Amino acid sequence: MEKRYIKEEKQTPVNYLCDTIVAGGGTAGIVAAIAAARNGAKTILIDRYGFVGGTMINGAGPLHSFFNLYKAFPGVEKVQVVRGIPDEIIERMKQKGGSPGHLEQEKGGSYDSVITLIDWEIFKEVAFEMLEECGVTVLLHTMVADVIKDEDRITGVIIEGKSGREAILAENVIDTTGDGDIAAMAGAPFVKRHDTTSVGMPFGMMNVDMPKLLHFLEENDMVNQLIRADKGSETDDVIRLGFELKKIPIFKEYMEKSGMWGPLGFSLYEGNYGYINAANLRAVDATNTEELSNAEIKLRRQIMTLSRMLREHVPGFEKAYVSWTPVGVGVRLTRVIECEHDMSLDEIVNGKRFPDEVMLYGFHDCAPRIMIKDGKYYGIPYRALLPKKVEGLLVAGRMITSEWDAHMSTRNTVSCMAQGQAVGTAAALCAKQGCLPRQLDVDKLREVLKEQNVFLD
Ligand SMILES: Cc1cc2nc3c(=O)[nH]c(=O)nc-3n(C[C@H](O)[C@H](O)[C@H](O)COP(=O)(O)OP(=O)(O)OC[C@H]3O[C@@H](n4cnc5c(N)ncnc54)[C@H](O)[C@@H]3O)c2cc1C
Repeated sequence: MEKRYIKEEKQTPVNYLCDTIVAGGGTAGIVAAIAAARNGAKTILIDRYGFVGGTMINGAGPLHSFFNLYKAFPGVEKVQVVRGIPDEIIERMKQKGGSPGHLEQEKGGSYDSVITLIDWEIFKEVAFEMLEECGVTVLLHTMVADVIKDEDRITGVIIEGKSGREAILAENVIDTTGDGDIAAMAGAPFVKRHDTTSVGMPFGMMNVDMPKLLHFLEENDMVNQLIRADKGSETDDVIRLGFELKKIPIFKEYMEKSGMWGPLGFSLYEGNYGYINAANLRAVDATNTEELSNAEIKLRRQIMTLSRMLREHVPGFEKAYVSWTPVGVGVRLTRVIECEHDMSLDEIVNGKRFPDEVMLYGFHDCAPRIMIKDGKYYGIPYRALLPKKVEGLLVAGRMITSEWDAHMSTRNTVSCMAQGQAVGTAAALCAKQGCLPRQLDVDKLREVLKEQNVFLD
């Protein structure tokens, strides 16, 4: 059938003026908005959901990683590579009882030497508090539906929410939508890379007897990641637990047929195996409404089937029930926006440093198979966050890095947060100096980042 179109003519009120728009209040966006506002920019943060936190609190488990992989390389010094605003968030979380902080892995230290667990509800509280303190205007339940351009410069966005269609004009825009919606709408070149990876949907179960479960798994040599720590219980100290479920034949058959893996998980409270990451589907284009809808239905089916199987076949789960599922499919990779620099795997594993780097990072999600050599860490240059062909725009988060196995490092939560601090600070400096992101003095940006506790040594 021939494709049909309708033509719309609309008059849209300009309801907001600001310095910096941060589109997408996820992992990178929150930090970007805080950084921009603290550096003097009148900032508006927009998210389609009724909370901020994005994939980090709706799919990601432990935050990977504030540290280098020192445990895989005996004698190598332990270094906290990501500091600044991301670490400040964790400190606040600790104060509110929302995180046990940075924990060393007892087993699995060559995958990630230190992991950081957070309570998602307390994270929402902390994030809103920090955004409010620095005066960010937060627009929730709001979709960015289009962009406003003056030739090749983005000058604002069109939003749609319960108030209808509205325009926001700004000095610059940061795209932290994960999928690069804004950059794509503004005409930045991009490639789609969903074919190289999978979408997923972790879930949580209550009433799990964690010590009994661990005992069974250890007896059957199934544990691959473990941390024990005080979680305020007299009997239960199992906080991080990953295991090979496919060692049980009935699970192997079902999981292989449906594409599931793991699981990897964590438990912050007694009896609550709050994060179980196993449901998985390959090659879904999450920028396609129908594909995304079908994935949502299939992943939810995987969760419910697996949870029933766990209850039936695995000691510790006898009385358990599903108590949490995320707001939607967890998306790893869709559009990758073409930027002035594209991080390569070679640069990552060799710990490459750049004169214009604005953050450092030391984790790779394929470790120990792919590791950053000698427990080193690499830099991400400012250019990697600067899209080609569109002026007035910066990007951060899982929409950078086109090689799949390089993306397996840069896309992780703590990297996205650090990228957020870099672009937020850059956007504020641009607004202050009346320049475009492409014209910004990167030495000045690095100086400000260092003053604000970003580790760049
Ligand atoms: C299943 C799964 C498990 C993972 N496990 C881990 C893990 O254990 N550890 C780890 O470190 N990382 C993990 N990751 C990776 C990590 O969570 C993500 O790569 C990272 O959080 C992405 O951050 P981001 O800010 O780029 O995007 P997101 O956090 O996805 O944020 C994008 C935000 O933009 C909003 N948005 C999108 N489009 C629009 C629009 N048009 N208008 C308005 N708002 C919009 C969204 O609502 C969202 O809040 C996992 C990812 C998945 C999917």
